[in-house]
Amino acid sequence: MADDPFTACAEQLAATPKLVRQLLEDHTPTSDGWCRAHDGHAERHPCSIRRLAELAHTHLAALERARGRGVAPRAAVAR
Ligand SMILES: [Zn+2]
Repeated sequence: MADDPFTACAEQLAATPKLVRQLLEDHTPTSDGWCRAHDGHAERHPCSIRRLAELAHTHLAALERARGRGVAPRAAVAR
């Protein structure tokens, strides 16, 4: 697991690709640059959830490339 909590959380989130896709679909910008997924408070796009989902998506893509090459996923994403 990654040392920094944000990356570690993204790696865990990548275990549920359906949720990653849903977050990316929900946390999109309005025409004036706010994230449309937050009720009761405003957050600029990209919000922290969107950035987390994007990092998870990047991690997922790395895992899929690793599987395609037959490389152990942990080795492929190790830093
Ligand atoms: Zn958001």
